[in-house]
Amino acid sequence: ADSRRAKLLEINKEAAKYFYYQLRTERGSVGMEYLRKRELSDETMNHFGLGYANKYSNDLIQYLKSKGYSEDLIRDAGLCNVDEKHGMYDKFWNRVMFPIQDINHRVIGFGGRVMGDGKPKYLNSPETEIFDKSRNLYGLNFARTSRKGNVILCEGYMDVIAMHQAGFTQAVASLGTAFTSGQASLLRRYANEILLSYDSDGAGVNAALRAIGILKEAGMTGRVINLEPYKDPDEFIKALGGEEFQKRLDHAENSFFFELRQLQKNYDLSDPEQKTAFHREIARKLCTFSEEVERENYIEAVAQKYHISFENLRRLVGTYAAQTG
Ligand code: ATP
Ligand code: MN
Ligand code: MN
Ligand code: MN
Repeated sequence: ADSRRAKLLEINKEAAKYFYYQLRTERGSVGMEYLRKRELSDETMNHFGLGYANKYSNDLIQYLKSKGYSEDLIRDAGLCNVDEKHGMYDKFWNRVMFPIQDINHRVIGFGGRVMGDGKPKYLNSPETEIFDKSRNLYGLNFARTSRKGNVILCEGYMDVIAMHQAGFTQAVASLGTAFTSGQASLLRRYANEILLSYDSDGAGVNAALRAIGILKEAGMTGRVINLEPYKDPDEFIKALGGEEFQKRLDHAENSFFFELRQLQKNYDLSDPEQKTAFHREIARKLCTFSEEVERENYIEAVAQKYHISFENLRRLVGTYAAQTG
């Protein structure tokens, strides 16, 4: 089984080398132009091993075969598609390629982005014997030794790369799937505090709320970075630069307050009925703090923030606490 894993790691490494080389040739110039337009330096491209899958179909398959790899292995590594009509053909085609590395810098899969507006925007390797998307994070191989005392969690490959390029080498992203508890326990080995830097659109807010829940279950705290008026960390840094981004990190919002702020959007606080319902909801959430000092501190802060009498809020929390035991 170990030699099987070694074989799959080897073929992924070979594919990464091939994509890497392609990007740096004439045929890859369209990919190179694209990445330059996105303001990545040569150093950054090299650091992340970025590459290019060209438009001449089955180039990778032919290359890997010429290196002695079997069709079975190419398929099991997720590097090709197979169907009855076309047989075996390259999975990645005319895309800039992001090799996905495990914490030991071994390539376990790929993300590929179309240049321009084609669909799907990103194509990712399927899960394989060596690629478990729920137990790896993009950028963690670099972030784990960044010694920043926190980890920045974001959505996309380009976000991670833009942050690293700006010196935020503690940035990681999940792999085109939702953040999982497996990834949370992975992160816990390297940092206690997670700074969430999800996209500022509706999908990003919902993803952040889910991630907060998962972090909490894993016993970690999160804070949320406000990127407004920009859409994601890549666009923010491009527009305002690293110093401004650092300020946003310094002012990242307590994840509980972030949750309340999102919750509040469902209520019209000028209506006493809805306002009361909102306060009940807050009290129910405050119950989840099992340590008394922490709960008291949150009750105090929330009472102040939402102009609720501290005593009334504490009593309300008490009634819910009694119910849930
Ligand atoms: P870009 O800046 O290159 O337009 P992004 O990094 O901002 O892209 P988003 O569209 O916000 O990307 O998506 C975030 C992440 O979600 C991507 O990095 C990718 O992993 C995943 N993703 C996005 N679109 C798709 C898709 N169509 N299929 C699979 N995964 C996707
Ligand atoms: Mn998005
Ligand atoms: Mn983006
Ligand atoms: Mn984005």
